[in-house]
Amino acid sequence: MLAGKKELRRMIAKIKNISYEETVFEDIHLTSQENYLLQSMLERYHNGEPLSKILNCRAFWEHDFFINGDVLDPRPETEILIEMILERFDRQSEINFLDIGTGSGCILLSLLQEYKNAHGTGIDVSSSAINVAKHNQKKFGIENANFIECDWKDFFCDEKIDVIVSNPPYIRSCDISSLDENVRSYDPLLALDGGESGLDAYFSIAQLAKRWLKPNGCIFLEVGYDQMSSVSSILQSNNFKIFEIKKDYSDINRGIGAIL
Ligand code: GLN
Repeated sequence: MLAGKKELRRMIAKIKNISYEETVFEDIHLTSQENYLLQSMLERYHNGEPLSKILNCRAFWEHDFFINGDVLDPRPETEILIEMILERFDRQSEINFLDIGTGSGCILLSLLQEYKNAHGTGIDVSSSAINVAKHNQKKFGIENANFIECDWKDFFCDEKIDVIVSNPPYIRSCDISSLDENVRSYDPLLALDGGESGLDAYFSIAQLAKRWLKPNGCIFLEVGYDQMSSVSSILQSNNFKIFEIKKDYSDINRGIGAIL
């Protein structure tokens, strides 16, 4: 893909370590080293790499998150989970959150920024994703988060959880090869692949949630475009009562909220 003016300005801002607003083309002089960097960024963009991966930066909720090839690019539709939680719980609440498959930490860190009296844990099976989440935690100075590398099945905690949130891998294995090139080649497979039915993660999350949620604890999940009825059934058959289904900006049922 050819870079437009906006993409070019964002690349220059990154190379010169200046803000996007400061990039007025005529006034910017690039050294040969900087020009070389710009050419290599343009080439990566031309080859289909998403700008966010080239710049190591993606906006989510209130922050610009550091991201790289080890984590899923945070997506705007995932912000729906934050909205659902804000609509249900007062900002002063002392919530203990668990973010399953935390990736860049975007969901948990955004929640903890809103809920100053809360604390939470983000788990991910990928140690390199946990490093990214910790990097973001430090970047934003959010102290009440704890990120742990852990297989979901081995999860253990001393204090039961009030709210579980997750944007799990939910693409059917057979659909991975037909995803857009900029997703298939640049987001980690681990963050996308939901097994044969695409629903593997929801079964494990329901098990984990039943064990670790407090009575009346809640769960908020993102689901694939055609998965709402299957995920609803999985939650209901694990004794959850569904209280909300929320559409994304494209009018697709995307977020589900349920209580134990
Ligand atoms: N929680 C992260 C996000 O929503 C990562 C999700 C994932 O890796 N499936 O972006």
